[in-house]
Amino acid sequence: MPAEPPSPISYRGRLAPSPTGFLHLGHARTFWIAQERAQSHRGALVLRNEDLDRARSKREFITAMLEDLHWFGFQWQEGPDFGGPFAPYSQSQRLNLYRGAFEKLRAAGFVYPCVCSRQDVLRALQAPHAGEDEPVYPGTCRATKGNLVQNSNAAPVNWRFQVPDGETVSFVDLRLGPQHFVAGRDFGDFVIWRHDDLPSYQLAVVVDDAAMAITEVVRGEDLLKSTARQLLLYKVLGLTPPKFYHCPLVTDQSGVRLAKRHDVLGLRALRATGATPESVRALWGAVTS
Ligand SMILES: [Zn+2]
Repeated sequence: MPAEPPSPISYRGRLAPSPTGFLHLGHARTFWIAQERAQSHRGALVLRNEDLDRARSKREFITAMLEDLHWFGFQWQEGPDFGGPFAPYSQSQRLNLYRGAFEKLRAAGFVYPCVCSRQDVLRALQAPHAGEDEPVYPGTCRATKGNLVQNSNAAPVNWRFQVPDGETVSFVDLRLGPQHFVAGRDFGDFVIWRHDDLPSYQLAVVVDDAAMAITEVVRGEDLLKSTARQLLLYKVLGLTPPKFYHCPLVTDQSGVRLAKRHDVLGLRALRATGATPESVRALWGAVTS
């Protein structure tokens, strides 16, 4: 068969772990799918260290993360351990980029300060529902927009992105097909800059994926709504979004999503019991069936 002509834009994927604990089976499976997709496109894979959580990101976890990824058979072409054209690859070293994007959003009037605590948001809701996603922000601080910033002595606040209420955000997921979410209904105004002077996950990921020229994002399907939020940011920041492939989540036998509390399914723990990467991959069928 004739070879396919090379794509004008070469594939760039990424692995984006947070060093707040040890890698577990759920991360490994999502990352493995990301690596397989990058390899099948003869593309590059970037390792990005998402270490913005100062309190929970620990050096020992970063070392362990790199070791576990190597042991499992992951191979990346750019990353915090050996650099690359889009260095640095640790989010804690990229704060100036996030701040620049935030200032752009603020200058254009897309954000407002919010003094609500998480408890305030929950109390203001008629029927808070316990899901994976955050509750829809009721918009309490939209009306007082700007008042807080006048006072230089004001306590640090969260800055929220004001979503265009009623606007449908649509995208085609490469696994799940067409997706539609309505701003203001499926998700509300979300935090862009945190009261502890750090960017939110949503902002940092958009800035990094765009700056690192990522063409396809592979991640868990719990982040579908986050993709809709992020597409709004791409639009107002004038950035080109990547494509998205959302993977099924790994659950245990009772259907509960794997989390870090499932210590027994940590890659370290499995390795200590004599597991090999091949036997771990064989487990994926078992935990999801
Ligand atoms: Zn508020």
